Amino acid sequence: METPDADNVVSSTDGDKDKLDDNAVLSSTPFEFEASRPSVFWASGDNPYENTRQVLSHIDLSPSKSKRVLLKPNVGRNAQLGTGVTTHPEVVAAAIDVFREAGADVAVGESPITGVAALEAFETGGITAVAKERKCPLIDMDVRRYVTVDIPDGVAIKSLKVCREVAEYDIVVSIPVMKTHMHTGVTLSVKNMKGCLWRRSKVDLHMLPELSGCDEKPLDIAIADMSSVLRPHLSIIDGTVGMEGLGPSAGKPKALGVVLAGVDAFATDSLACSMMGISGRDIPHLRVGSERGYGVIALDSIEAYPRNWKDVQDPFAPPPDELSIEFSGYTVLDIQSCSACQSTLLMFLKKYGKQLRDGVPDDKEIVIAIGKGHEKLPDGTLCVGNCTARHKGCGYFVSGCPPVASEILSAFNI
Ligand code: SF4
Repeated sequence: METPDADNVVSSTDGDKDKLDDNAVLSSTPFEFEASRPSVFWASGDNPYENTRQVLSHIDLSPSKSKRVLLKPNVGRNAQLGTGVTTHPEVVAAAIDVFREAGADVAVGESPITGVAALEAFETGGITAVAKERKCPLIDMDVRRYVTVDIPDGVAIKSLKVCREVAEYDIVVSIPVMKTHMHTGVTLSVKNMKGCLWRRSKVDLHMLPELSGCDEKPLDIAIADMSSVLRPHLSIIDGTVGMEGLGPSAGKPKALGVVLAGVDAFATDSLACSMMGISGRDIPHLRVGSERGYGVIALDSIEAYPRNWKDVQDPFAPPPDELSIEFSGYTVLDIQSCSACQSTLLMFLKKYGKQLRDGVPDDKEIVIAIGKGHEKLPDGTLCVGNCTARHKGCGYFVSGCPPVASEILSAFNI
C-alpha cells in the first residue's frame, strides 16, 4: 500500500464492493483480555504523551505486528488545543509511536460533523503537526465512497454507511476526549465510533422515529446498535483536558490530566464515567449495549489499575436538560436536532446571545427552534436550520444544514 505524507489524503481507488459480504467490521479484538472481568488502565500527570505510553505499556500490543492500525481520535470539529473539544495531539502521537514500535502500519482517520473538513480540523487541533513529524498518514475518511454494513441485531437501525477505511484496516482504536454530551450524556470511546459513519449519514441517527414500547431515545438505541458492528478493538480515552456542561462543543474545558486504556470499550468508558462522577448505568447507550453483552460496565466487574482511581475522580458538571436554563431570556425548543445544529446554536448564543437579547424588548420572549420533530411552533419563533423549514412561516428562518451562527443574528435584523 502506498504510504502518503501526512499532508496528503489517501485517495486510492475504491474497489468495487459497496456492501460487505460478511460483517468484517465486527471482527473480534486481537488483544487479550478477560471478558468477564476486563482491565482498564489509567495514568495521570501533566504529560499526556507519557500518560498514554504508560497505559499502553500494560497491554500486549504484539497482535498488531504487521497489521494495519487505524487510530480514530475525536477531531470532529475545528477546535484549538486546550478547549477540550478534540483529542490531545500528544495522546495521538504516543499511540502512533507505541503501535509502530509493536510493528504496526499506523494511520489516523476522522469523518467530522457536517460542515467541518477533516484535514482542517486535524491542523487546528495540532494533530497534523505530530503526524507530519512522524510521517504518519492522515485520512479524511469522507473522501472515498462508503461501505454498507448490516446490523443483524439492530433495533433502531438495520444498516450503516461506514467509511471504507474502517472496514479495510485490521485494527481500529477509538481515542475520544472525555466529554459530557447534550444528547447522549457522555461521548467516550463507544460513541466516538459515530465518527466512522460516512459524511452526513451520522445525522440519520438523530432523525429516527420514536421506538414503540421503548423508553430510551432512538439515538441512544442506535448508538448501542452501532456498537454491535463498530466496536473499537482498543480504547484510549484522553482526559487531559475534557469538557463538562454543554458538551460536546460548547461546554467548559475540564483539566483532569488522565489517560485511560482498555480492550473492552464499555469497561473503559464506564471507568472514565466514574472518574467524571457519572455512573455508566446512567448513560443509556452504555447500559443498553452492556445489557446486550457488548461489554461490561459494572464497576465491581472491572479491574481498574491502579486501583486508587478515586484519587483522580473530579465530577463533571452535567449537560443541562434545557438550554433555556443556561441562557436566560431564551426558550430553546429542540426536538430531534443533531449535534451540528446544536453546536451552531450554542456558539451563537455564547457569542451573540447578549447582543440579541439587548436588541429585543425585555417583555418579548425569544423562542428558538432546532430539529425536525416540531409539530407546531409559536408565532414569532426563530427557526434555525433546514430541518425547521416547514415552520418558517411562523416567524424567522435561518437556512443551512448546519446554518452559520452569524446569520442567525441577521435573521433578526440586528
Ligand atoms: S438542519 Fe440542523 S438539525 Fe437538521 S440535519 Fe441539518 S444540522 Fe442537523
